[in-house]
Amino acid sequence: MNLARQLYQLQELDVEIESDEQALGRVTSQIGESEAVLESQARLESEQQSLEELKHQQHTAEWEIDDVTTKIAAAEESLFSGRIKNPKELASLQQEVEMFKARRGQLEEKALSVIDQVEQVEAAVAKISAELKTLTAEWRRQQKQLAGEKTKLQAALADLKGRWQQLSEQVEPETVEFYKQLRERKGGTAVARVEQGICRGCRISLPTTDLQRVRGNNLVQCSSCGRILFLA
Ligand SMILES: [Zn+2]
Repeated sequence: MNLARQLYQLQELDVEIESDEQALGRVTSQIGESEAVLESQARLESEQQSLEELKHQQHTAEWEIDDVTTKIAAAEESLFSGRIKNPKELASLQQEVEMFKARRGQLEEKALSVIDQVEQVEAAVAKISAELKTLTAEWRRQQKQLAGEKTKLQAALADLKGRWQQLSEQVEPETVEFYKQLRERKGGTAVARVEQGICRGCRISLPTTDLQRVRGNNLVQCSSCGRILFLA
């Protein structure tokens, strides 16, 4: 096989390898935890904590209402039992009942406000839970897809590198080294196609002498850009 063609094929493999390696890097960087899922989990935890505190407040208020209600019942029982005859004592008991009832009114208002907040936070928890479920499902689907892509790219890279190795073994090591160094210096293109007498590397018309030499089996470099010329 023509040496320039071999190097050109090596370069085509190199381009593919680089492209797949970049893709592999992108895929690998996306594998892992999701910011959106973590953020949603944190919000859910914070709302659940608020809910727990509010429910505790609600139970405390309800317990206090029960307590005051028991006290009112006991005071009213004494008040209407007929056991107490002293008007002063009766007035004082009446006052006590009124005081308890005012206290109960306050507690009931507080309980209602807490219940209202509990409902709001419960709604928020339900909303975030649903969002989290969707986000997690989407993230799992993505991760599965990414893992599949990663496996495919790894297999493709192994195949390309194997072909590169095989092809490069047919070329003198010094020539492969020369190709590698030239490719590095020439922005990834060490071998340029010649089309209609023009070097595709620098788009300059080649002198006739260059064109004649390209037809031989020796490596010819473009006299303008220095790239190895390859006549397809
Ligand atoms: Zn050139």
